This record gives sequence, structure tokens and C-alpha cells, in this order.
Amino acid sequence: MVTERQEINKVKRCPLCDGEMRDGITAIPFLVSEKVVVIKDVPAEICSECGEAYMKSSVVDKVESVLDKLEALHSEMSVVHYAAA
Ligand SMILES: [Zn+2]
Repeated sequence: MVTERQEINKVKRCPLCDGEMRDGITAIPFLVSEKVVVIKDVPAEICSECGEAYMKSSVVDKVESVLDKLEALHSEMSVVHYAAA
């Protein structure tokens, strides 16, 4: 008997509550050198149960470069749109 387990890999599960992860967009606040930066419209996988959002690695790279740029500004709080950054 062959056991087919590929189907299980299609659905990502939340590490916190084991809920189903779905693609979506979210706003994520970051604290950088005591400044608050909110990045809106970030593509993420969001848990359908607890709402926890996880960024994909490609998104994390871009977010980090955005945060690097904003760190040079003197604004204590910034709100940026992911797509425009
Ligand atoms: Zn969850």
C-alpha cells in the first residue's frame, strides 16, 4: 500500500494554534531604535484561527531594507505602504 502524503504539505499550519494559514495582506508594526514603523499592505500568510501573520522570506528581505532606510529619518513614527516602499 502506497501512502500519499503530498496533500498534507499543501496546507500550512500555524505554529501557535495549528490553524490553517492563508495568503493575505496585513499591517505590521516594527520597533527600530525606539522608533515605531508601521508597514501597511504587507503580503503575508495569516492564520485563519488566531490571526497571527507570517512574512515570507522574500518579503522579510524587502521589509528589512525599508526599515534600514527609515532608521536614518528623524521621524519617531512612520507609516509606509509596502508596495510604495
Ligand atoms: Zn494560529
